[in-house]
Amino acid sequence: MARLNKCVSLPIVEDEVVLDSMLGWLVRWLRILGVRAIYDSNFKDEELLNIDHLLITRDRELFRKRTRLSMLLETSRHLEWLSISSLVLGVPLVLDMGRSLCPICGSSLIKVSKDAVADKVPKGVLSRYNDFWLCTGCGQVYWVGSHHMRIKKELELARILLSSISTSCVNNNLLIIRK
Ligand SMILES: [Zn+2]
Repeated sequence: MARLNKCVSLPIVEDEVVLDSMLGWLVRWLRILGVRAIYDSNFKDEELLNIDHLLITRDRELFRKRTRLSMLLETSRHLEWLSISSLVLGVPLVLDMGRSLCPICGSSLIKVSKDAVADKVPKGVLSRYNDFWLCTGCGQVYWVGSHHMRIKKELELARILLSSISTSCVNNNLLIIRK
């Protein structure tokens, strides 16, 4: 499903992880879970080659050339990416708005009053919900609304998947495999 280029013990605790330009889906999810995930759809291979942080990539060639810690996602299933990342980074697959970062820009969110967002969200939303968060980077407003049912459902499926994966050290690569 995936492999790391070193046989490290999990979880890997890093302040930040970097994702290649093919992993836009995963970066949004990791930020929702509170991971400082760096991503740019225009990242060049040469930049990614020398980044010190853990690199998560779908690019086999880039993975082969990297000497610093890297993880190659060999599965194309998005939900498996999420379960694997949870295992490797030690991030629980649960939604906690107190930890969430902005999925769009990766900045911190702060809890704000209804008044503070009155002119930024539709009236219907304002009347139905009481808790709002504001992105300190891009200004996007978030609330725990109906779309969170879908988020929770996805996380539940990812948790089930997580229980079926394990690791094995082979030739100084840490393989992430199905049990
Ligand atoms: Zn933002």
